[in-house]
Amino acid sequence: MTSTHVAVVGGGPGGYAAAFLAADLGRTVALVDAEPNPGGVCVYRGCIPSKALLHVAKVLDEARHASAWGVEFGAPKIDLAKLREFKNSVVTRLTAGTGQLAKHRKVRYLQGLAEIIDPHTLRMKRLGGADEMLQAEHIILATGSVPAMPATLRLDDPRVMDSTAALDLPDIPGSLLVVGGGYIGLELGSVYAALGSAVTVVEMTDGLLPGVDRDLVDVLARRVTQQMRGVLLKTRVTKMQAQPPGIRVTFDGEGLPAERREQVFDRVLVAVGRRPNASVPGLDRTRVQVNERGFIVVDAQMRTAEPSIFAIGDVVGEPMLAHKASHEGRVAVEVIGGAKVAFEPRAIPAVVFTDPEIAWCGLTEAQAQREQRAVTVARFPWGASGRAITLDRVDGATKLILDPGSERILGVGLVGTGAGELIAEGVLAIEMGATATDLKLTIHPHPTLTETMMEAAEVFFGHATHVYRPKR
Ligand code: FAD
Repeated sequence: MTSTHVAVVGGGPGGYAAAFLAADLGRTVALVDAEPNPGGVCVYRGCIPSKALLHVAKVLDEARHASAWGVEFGAPKIDLAKLREFKNSVVTRLTAGTGQLAKHRKVRYLQGLAEIIDPHTLRMKRLGGADEMLQAEHIILATGSVPAMPATLRLDDPRVMDSTAALDLPDIPGSLLVVGGGYIGLELGSVYAALGSAVTVVEMTDGLLPGVDRDLVDVLARRVTQQMRGVLLKTRVTKMQAQPPGIRVTFDGEGLPAERREQVFDRVLVAVGRRPNASVPGLDRTRVQVNERGFIVVDAQMRTAEPSIFAIGDVVGEPMLAHKASHEGRVAVEVIGGAKVAFEPRAIPAVVFTDPEIAWCGLTEAQAQREQRAVTVARFPWGASGRAITLDRVDGATKLILDPGSERILGVGLVGTGAGELIAEGVLAIEMGATATDLKLTIHPHPTLTETMMEAAEVFFGHATHVYRPKR
């Protein structure tokens, strides 16, 4: 039996951020995960590998589009083994780095699975080693989430993939069905489309990216319809059968002609969401509560109902995003250290890394409508941005959602190339309680897409330099 101040179960962006901060604050720390190094879903099979592939997809799309600028490249030759190697090297480089950072901080990294014996004791089932008992003053559960796989979509055939299998790039299928028009389906679908697959996306609601403001999604949807073979909205997959020529899929959709109700695809990617992974062995030996949606219940200080156990990241709730997990991890560690802090962000950014990207933070327009909240929306179209024109990417918009009385920025929404980088300014503005005047008076470099934030603030006052829209 060894003992430690803090034991962290799960080495994702929540778990390793928590473990590293605890060590920086002078605690003894153990971090457990099945992978050889810290990184979790995000680095091994989520954010990072998908973005490496999306980068390549963007280069392919730009090279194709370059003929419009008078530059012709030949048809791309794709060496799948090399592409896979590039993606894997990105993951290895990052995880080797987190492994080193753990060593430097003297965080005991234990490769294995943790079982809870009691609120202060874990049994480590070490991979390739003897089991070990670990006693901890505090335990932080950061066990993340796993892909959701509803029974109708479960088929024991390697041609039916979840996001993890799709990231392995088994081949470039002639045809691919993506079930789910959320961010993971669209990101991975656009990778396969850029590599040459004929991609169809099926989504059961009436639009892609449910929950995201429609004006932002519309810009992306226009491009998706060009890149992909088809998008089936208000359509469900009711049956899948594995057959030698492919996966035969039966659809039930509004307005879908009879001859399209059954189609055969070389591969199917199921991306219908993720579910929290609260099935930590031995959790029932504690007072930790799990709600009806499967999330571990925590308060704003990331405490569970068991005083020695905290929980953070995907396993405690939406939005299931890496940066939310890391921040919660840091809050949990500060609370353990006695600080009077809580996880109370004014804005958590979300980015869809398609091309164009969509990014938003704070209050959305849809949310304001739902809550019948009076807001002013100031929109700056990228057709009026010098930088967007030089990039030949005017398919974008920046909008601010403001309180009409105080001019305070409540939300920011962006669609366009690089929107994911631009949103950070919006998050800072909201966190600092900035007003439209603050943003308008902040000198932004020219020519950059960041100017669209400043000009959207000017739109609020009816005097943006590059759009003529006087305030009435
Ligand atoms: P995770 O990263 O899920 O890590 C949990 C870890 O705990 C896992 O390694 C798991 O094996 C381990 N574990 C579970 N049980 C035990 C146990 N009993 N003992 C030991 N270890 C255990 N988010 C973004 O912010 N940006 C993106 O661009 C983005 N892209 C994504 C793309 C894809 C394809 C996917 C699938 C996800 C993406 N996400 C993205 C989501 C992001 O990966 C998660 O929000 C993030 O990883 C959550 O971090 P976490 O620390 O809660 O847990």
